[in-house]
Amino acid sequence: MEPQIIDHYNELPHSINVIDKMNEELSEAQKETNKLKEELEKYKMMNLYIPKINITLINKEQYIDYMELFDEIKENIRNHLYIYKENGLIADEEYDLKKACENSCKLVEILFNGLNDRGANLNISREWCEYRIDNALDKFKSLVKLQNYWWENMIKDSICNDIIEMIIEEIIDGNDYEIKLYECLRIKCDKCNHVFTIEGGDIIDEKKWICWDCSECSDS
Ligand SMILES: [Zn+2]
Repeated sequence: MEPQIIDHYNELPHSINVIDKMNEELSEAQKETNKLKEELEKYKMMNLYIPKINITLINKEQYIDYMELFDEIKENIRNHLYIYKENGLIADEEYDLKKACENSCKLVEILFNGLNDRGANLNISREWCEYRIDNALDKFKSLVKLQNYWWENMIKDSICNDIIEMIIEEIIDGNDYEIKLYECLRIKCDKCNHVFTIEGGDIIDEKKWICWDCSECSDS
C-alpha cells in the first residue's frame, strides 16, 4: 500500500490527532503570514517618504557621456563643499559643516541641474534631489556638535577633506539600502538583450555593452 499523507501526521490513521496537528501547522503558517504582512506594510510606509526616481534606458553610445556627466556632478558637489573649509582659529583649517547643512538648497540645485540640464534628459524630480541631499546631510548632523565642541572646532585639518568625501559618497552612492545615482540608468546587453544597471557589465571592444554573465561565457 502506498504511503498516505495522513501517515505522515499520525501512526494511527484517521485519528482526531491528525486534525490537531494540521491545525497547529496552519496556525504557525498564519502567524508567519501575519508577520510578513506587517513587515510589508512597514516597507510600504517607508517608501511613501522616498520620492520615485525616473529610470532611463540608454544606449551604448550614450554610456560614456553619462559616466562623464556623473563625474561632473560629483566634481561640482566637491567644489561647492570645499567652500566651507576655512582658515581656523587654532587649527590651520576648519570645516563649517553647520553652514554646509544650512545651505543644502545649493547642493540640491547642483544635483538637480546636473541631472536635468544640457541634454542630460534624466527627468529626475527636484523632490527626489531634495530628498537625496537632506538624507545624505542628515547622517552628519551629529557631527555638527563637534564644531562647537569645548573651545575649538573639532572638524579640522585632514578631517575636513574626509568629511567632504564622505558627504559626496552619501549623495552619489547612498548606503546599502539606498539607490545609487547611476542606478537611474539602464542599458541593454548586446548579447542576451536583457536590461541591466550600468554596473552590470561593461563596454567591450568600444562597440558592445556586454553584461558580466555574457562576458564570462565568451571568456571561457
Ligand atoms: Zn548578457
